Amino acid sequence: MTTFSVQKNDLQLLAQQFADLSAFQCLIFHANEFDDGLNVLKIWQLWRKTRPNNNSRIQIITTAEKPLSSEELALHLAHFPDFNNLFELLLAQYPPAISGVHRLIFNDERLTIDLWFGDVITDLKVQTTPILMTPNDSTTFVVIGAGIAGLSISHALTQRGYAVTLIEQDEPLSGASGNPCALLLSKLPKLNRVSGNLQTMGALTTARWWQNWANDVVVSKGALLQIEADDLEKIQGYPTNLVQIVNSTEASKKAKITCSSDFMFMPCAVGIDPQAIRKHVLASPLVTLVKAQAKQLFKRPNESDWIIADDNAQPIVQATKIIIANAKDSVSLCPTLPPLTVIRGQMSWLAAPENSPSLALGYGGYAATFKNNFLLGSSFVRDDECTDIRLTEHDSNLALLKNSFPELTKQLPPTKTWQGRASLRALPRDSMPVVGAVPQMDDVFVLAGLGSKGFSFAPLCAELLAAQMLGEALPMTDKLAAAIRPDRFIKKERVRKPYYTASKDN
Ligand SMILES: Cc1cc2nc3c(=O)[nH]c(=O)nc-3n(C[C@H](O)[C@H](O)[C@H](O)COP(=O)(O)OP(=O)(O)OC[C@H]3O[C@@H](n4cnc5c(N)ncnc54)[C@H](O)[C@@H]3O)c2cc1C
Repeated sequence: MTTFSVQKNDLQLLAQQFADLSAFQCLIFHANEFDDGLNVLKIWQLWRKTRPNNNSRIQIITTAEKPLSSEELALHLAHFPDFNNLFELLLAQYPPAISGVHRLIFNDERLTIDLWFGDVITDLKVQTTPILMTPNDSTTFVVIGAGIAGLSISHALTQRGYAVTLIEQDEPLSGASGNPCALLLSKLPKLNRVSGNLQTMGALTTARWWQNWANDVVVSKGALLQIEADDLEKIQGYPTNLVQIVNSTEASKKAKITCSSDFMFMPCAVGIDPQAIRKHVLASPLVTLVKAQAKQLFKRPNESDWIIADDNAQPIVQATKIIIANAKDSVSLCPTLPPLTVIRGQMSWLAAPENSPSLALGYGGYAATFKNNFLLGSSFVRDDECTDIRLTEHDSNLALLKNSFPELTKQLPPTKTWQGRASLRALPRDSMPVVGAVPQMDDVFVLAGLGSKGFSFAPLCAELLAAQMLGEALPMTDKLAAAIRPDRFIKKERVRKPYYTASKDN
């Protein structure tokens, strides 16, 4: 499996390849097994010394069958002080030691490291020679929709040096993504299934990436999650930096509120400020925001560019590649996409009471303190596309909290004084995102169907889509990428076998 043992000759070869990279080229290669990380740090150090100053990048793919925890890694690498500064950067992004593909992105270093941990290694297709990706200068990108999907794919592309035109009919984050705060908090699957669980891998990725890219996006860390019947069995074997069981006394102490039962304490669960993501993505000089409603896509005869047009068929902009990120309306632009079910949701908030919890809480609903407000989420109403604020849904958000934290609700003012925001989730029938090439529309791609977990899914799915569009190594297994392909619901024609074949003897 190993293609680059970090022997002197290989390092010399690599140094030459690094130095020869021209602007925006990306060199993708497999390195030795990750072991204690030293090999990767050597390559990284070499990259620092030899990289040309021209926006070129490298992507290192490496494996660990039995990955070390970050504490174990720290112990090993403490013996190599020469690598101290790189090691600190590595450790800041190092994932929990669980099976899965873990992508680490060091934007300032122009470096991506893919760690394939545990059982997914058998799914890794190893290239024996490095792949050199040369960008096509004539490629232009248009993204339609500036929710978390559109912002995430814009970010993934601009980080690679591509310019993006982002079309939004209203304001960025005016759809489902515009709540004051989003929580990345959900149940864990059994440990032997975690590598195939897009939600968990996505939530871990989002938290890790944004913590490293900007210090104002992740606004809270840690959460208490209610324990249900099969949870204790499911979480067996997980490292304690992902989940721990705490009794009611410990839970009360951690969250600074009264808890009357045991909880799962999840140190990696985070609260995200969507407006901070918007600010960072739109600050890139490579993003041009255009306020317009995209109504149709077409090509002129003998031309390769797509034209995005408004209601009157007037062109808004044209591009070689289009990314559809307008949630529930994606199918109106691309009829071959799967239809999305719409589920209304209302988040409620009020001025934070004196004793509001210091951790986010998950209990069927969820609650969190954010910028002096206490937020409660969220109602689920099917077949309803209205976005008015309803007292009944404030009441149902309160009722959920009261079930699990009755003491906490005693100090809250009446729901008629609360504020709220209602918006629409959009999801296909299997509740998995829709990511990849749009069937029967060359050079049109989609990132939609994010349902109720868009902030967990979007950054990882955007990274997948960018890799697919540009021919880079994927940040997940092929199997997981296939589970969210836009054409997964299209029935393949079965070749029918004849019931009876005449025997040759007759
Ligand atoms: C009440 C509620 C609470 C939630 N809480 C969480 C949470 O805590 N954590 C979490 O991970 N997820 C949460 N979600 C889910 C999450 O908000 C969504 O999954 C996510 O916002 C979907 O992002 P999106 O970019 O696909 O869609 P949207 O945010 O809806 O963005 C689509 C954008 O496209 C624009 N648009 C549409 N059509 C066009 C067009 N033709 N031309 C131009 N622009 C167009 C829209 O104006 C909009 O801005 C919650 C959802 C709701 C409703």
